[in-house]
Amino acid sequence: MFKHVSFIPYATFKKDISIILITADQLKNRSFNFTDKDLSRSLIGLFESKIFTGDPGQTYPLALNKRFFLLVSLGAQKDITSTSLKILIKNSLLSPNLKDAKNIELICHDQKGSTIKCAIEGALLGTYSWNKYKSKTVDKNNIDEKNLYIISTKNKDLESNITICESTNFTRDLVNDNADFITSAFLEKTILSLVKGRKNISVEILNKKELKAKGLNLLLGVNQGSNKEPKLIIVKYTGSDKKDKYTALVGKGITFDSGGLNLKPTGSIETMREDMGGAAAVIGTLKNALALKIKKNIIFAVGLAENAIGSGSQKPGDVVISYSKKSVEIANTDAEGRLVLADAISYIIKNYEPERLINIATLTGACVIALGYDYSGLISNDDILTKNILKSSIETDDRAWHLPNYPELKDSVKSNIADIKNLGFPKGIAGTLTAAEFLRQFVGDTKWAHIDIAGTAFVEGTSRMYYGHGATGAGVRLLTNYLQNN
Ligand SMILES: [Zn+2]
Repeated sequence: MFKHVSFIPYATFKKDISIILITADQLKNRSFNFTDKDLSRSLIGLFESKIFTGDPGQTYPLALNKRFFLLVSLGAQKDITSTSLKILIKNSLLSPNLKDAKNIELICHDQKGSTIKCAIEGALLGTYSWNKYKSKTVDKNNIDEKNLYIISTKNKDLESNITICESTNFTRDLVNDNADFITSAFLEKTILSLVKGRKNISVEILNKKELKAKGLNLLLGVNQGSNKEPKLIIVKYTGSDKKDKYTALVGKGITFDSGGLNLKPTGSIETMREDMGGAAAVIGTLKNALALKIKKNIIFAVGLAENAIGSGSQKPGDVVISYSKKSVEIANTDAEGRLVLADAISYIIKNYEPERLINIATLTGACVIALGYDYSGLISNDDILTKNILKSSIETDDRAWHLPNYPELKDSVKSNIADIKNLGFPKGIAGTLTAAEFLRQFVGDTKWAHIDIAGTAFVEGTSRMYYGHGATGAGVRLLTNYLQNN
């Protein structure tokens, strides 16, 4: 990520390099009005001689009067989407032409707020890379030593967007780091340091002892094979009048998911430090609420456990009495996220009475099969909540897609030996829907939505959309936008 990002009202053309984004339409119509006549003349010449054609993604380094430019073509205006724009901005900022530049100017093709927001996200989210454990000599992209100047008049909205991107990257750091470093104790410290000194905050932390005393046995059971402390951490943030109802966000935080005795095979286990991506998204959203002083009442909660293997591990076939007193058959120890969430949801609804509750979790591999990597799954029992989350998803490009929940699904979680079981239909059929149905059994009449980020939270290859390898921070922009507007 850049050392510093700021806005300057006019291009100076005096930084180490100026990146100029330009559409094919502007080139054809010669509708760029740089005060610098030499620059305009060069652009016309390059276009007319078919050297710089205006095709999307084409770049051309230009040295002119001892100044350096990187021309970047965006293609036809009608084909530009917010995603394609961010990808092109990301690629241009990572271009080898910028290798030695310390100060970079970015000149967009227009001055619309939505375009400048894409520039911010392309720059901050697009150039993020996880390199904590790479030695400096290996890391050739010194982006964290560079300053970026985006040409735009600054305003509160754009500055908020920078904050939101920074929190998204903060969440990515939490997900990317080693599972033995990002433990429940570490996440507790992280949350406490975020809220330190804030007057409108109260925090409740339930450790093993309290969880036992209060009967959150589903959460405890998942952690049974681990030497780390299970935790339910609840931050009550009062940003509005005390009498206003609270929205609760609940994140799944499995700091490592081995699958338990239903052990995950090679090929599935390697990235399982990402299984706290839901909790990390809630923590990133908390960071935003504090920084942006969101004027809403919000509960931020994370259920933290490690699904490890030991002689004390929970056994498939066990029956556990949940906090809600419903008995649950542990049909598969790898379906542990819903167990942690079920107790967390029941506890928050009973003790905090939120008006609505949104949980977020890397919950099911089935969601990746159904929707792939670019859309999170959204399941809810309330149409207005669904509509507003989808609206935030479109506004932020932190994408979600609505999947169904319906009464007949309750049969999918029936058990022969307990009230319900933590697995749905055989062969994983509709696994995302049946996992959500399991959660719905614990929400009662509360308005509820579940966001499954199993596919969206992490990039296993080198890149996807404008994200590089590793965590994407899925959910942070979506939840922040939702809270700001609802
Ligand atoms: Zn699992």
